Amino acid sequence: MADLQLLFLGTGTSAGVPMIGCHCPVCTSADPHDRRTRCSVVFSYHNINVLVDTTPELRLQSLATGLEAIEAVVITHAHADHIMGLDDVRRFNTLRGGPLDVWAEAPTLEKLRCSFDYAFRAPDPDQKVYRPHLQPQIISGDFSVAGATWQPIRLFHGELPILGFRVGSIAYCTDVNRIPDSSWALLHDLDVLIIDGLQWKTHSTHFSLTQAIEAARRINARQTYFTHIAHAVGHEQTNRQLPPNMQLAYDGLRVHGQLPD
Ligand SMILES: [Zn+2]
Ligand SMILES: [Zn+2]
Ligand SMILES: [Zn+2]
Repeated sequence: MADLQLLFLGTGTSAGVPMIGCHCPVCTSADPHDRRTRCSVVFSYHNINVLVDTTPELRLQSLATGLEAIEAVVITHAHADHIMGLDDVRRFNTLRGGPLDVWAEAPTLEKLRCSFDYAFRAPDPDQKVYRPHLQPQIISGDFSVAGATWQPIRLFHGELPILGFRVGSIAYCTDVNRIPDSSWALLHDLDVLIIDGLQWKTHSTHFSLTQAIEAARRINARQTYFTHIAHAVGHEQTNRQLPPNMQLAYDGLRVHGQLPD
């Protein structure tokens, strides 16, 4: 078994926490756990880092966590809070001195090209430009990044089919309010499950915490963390209400799992 680590770069819902112009107890909280940038994680193994989603805060998240190298980018879906920092990966292109693979389903790659067409063009050696250099890689089943198998997990985010991912004994399932029958079996025997838990109130495209707890009980991972958290949810108070093996994630949290050899 090889070591597998997951770092939460961001754990906030699409508006971030605090929200602009909100003076509620969580948005004005002094607890750093109540400051949540947009949702993204990094899987680390075999001395490499794989970035899942590129939020509008990617640069700040990288600086805050000391992230200085990435091997590839994997995208769950093309909502703005998950892709609008894609331009920031140009620094990682420079640091590695080469292109970066971007893994996503075909419709998601199409949307990335609409927003960032310049990032997918081949570099022109005569032109000194500062932009990302990305190589699209279509996800159509299990795929491999740096010697590890990535299993896509079909999830539904309202009507939108999106992807979660399982790597070794960790699964990341953000932006979901329905897990189809075929996906439950992919979530067996997990050390760590990360799952959408927006707020206590029900929502049309995200699991509420009550629904997320119910899904987490069925999946029965050794530890579950909720992410994509809204401002209605205070960190300390909510974690006291939750069972010890189901807690809210926070920006900068690192968790560990295992990768089969
Ligand atoms: Zn989102
Ligand atoms: Zn608020
Ligand atoms: Zn979304």
